[in-house]
Amino acid sequence: MSISVEKVPFNRPSMSSDELLHIEQSIASRELSGGGYFTRLAQSLLKKELGGNCEVLLTTSCTHALEVAAILLNLQPGDEVIVPAFTFPSTALAFVMHGANVIFADCRPDTLNLDESLLENLITPNTRAIVPVHYAGISCDMDKIMDLANSYDLIVIEDNAHGLFGKYKNKSLGTIGHLATQSFHETKNITCGEGGALIINEKKFYERAEIILEKGTNRKRFFRGQVDKYSWVDKGSSYILADLLASMLCAQLKRAKKIQNSREKAWNLYYEKLEYWASNNNVKLPFVPDEAYQPFHMFYLLVPDVEIRDSLLNEWNSKGVNAVFHYLPLNRSEMGRKFSTNSNSCSVAEDISNRIIRLPFYTDISLAEQEKVVSVVLESKW
Ligand SMILES: *Cc1c(COP(=O)(O)O)cnc(C)c1O
Repeated sequence: MSISVEKVPFNRPSMSSDELLHIEQSIASRELSGGGYFTRLAQSLLKKELGGNCEVLLTTSCTHALEVAAILLNLQPGDEVIVPAFTFPSTALAFVMHGANVIFADCRPDTLNLDESLLENLITPNTRAIVPVHYAGISCDMDKIMDLANSYDLIVIEDNAHGLFGKYKNKSLGTIGHLATQSFHETKNITCGEGGALIINEKKFYERAEIILEKGTNRKRFFRGQVDKYSWVDKGSSYILADLLASMLCAQLKRAKKIQNSREKAWNLYYEKLEYWASNNNVKLPFVPDEAYQPFHMFYLLVPDVEIRDSLLNEWNSKGVNAVFHYLPLNRSEMGRKFSTNSNSCSVAEDISNRIIRLPFYTDISLAEQEKVVSVVLESKW
């Protein structure tokens, strides 16, 4: 073990000199607001990454991309959107902000994704959409979700904040639902600080999405010469990412292979070093189903119970390993209780939330840092 490493942070965004070069180029161009050269480049890089059959619009965040999706749904009072209980608040908040109630789906104990077998029972005549989250970028059972959505005429919006580069049966995550959202927050694999994208797989949503992003105006159509002046035509907000930030995003996207390779190596190293300890101590490591290709977004452990979890977090953090817990179930939150019409308890989500630990995991984590984490984990007892 390397004693030179004192503290291992939970996350540290990966930055290279390319990001700075792109930012300099963006500043020199004097094209700083949205829709410029780097926005178009990032959108086309993402589109290519996702297989080319979608449209991509950069947004200020994943939360905002989810809000655009919510506006596209034309939600009416009483409408319901099914979301997992085990997710970040944005997955639910975006739809509540635009008038829906949310119905919480419990999660599967293996992938921690929403349990597709529970969905049909949650559907009512008011259901409009399902928002699966690919937890840790490990895909939900999308065939089951899409079949159900198609038979009940529901829109599927993949919250793919964790899952850029992930796949389900060889299809890129983000291209399976009617719409999908990405995050470029600094905790995600690819980042520009704060940023996001809306992925449009159903072409009929595209033109209105552009308007919603442009503060409810048809400015994009005006620039394309399709209308002779532009004006206020719809709901919307200021959801467009600044070209300055898109420039940074382009540098990250161009380095994506390298970033992903480093993450894969780091993920596999944790798995190999902890596998034996985990199986001897009733600890579960992440489960990746055969049909899923994971993008190495996070590394988590499920320990036996909440007392052990809390004491391990204390112990590891006191030894300089910044391990953390994760989502508190949304059905138990103040807002979740207010805006959900199903007060069903999501017992699996609540159990997982009590037992999960995320280890420090980031693109440039060094071997010495990982060895420090591994040795602190292996020496812990309960
Ligand atoms: C990070 C995250 C978000 C929010 O992303 P922002 O870009 O910060 O708005 C939404 N959903 C999930 C599942 C996330 O992990």
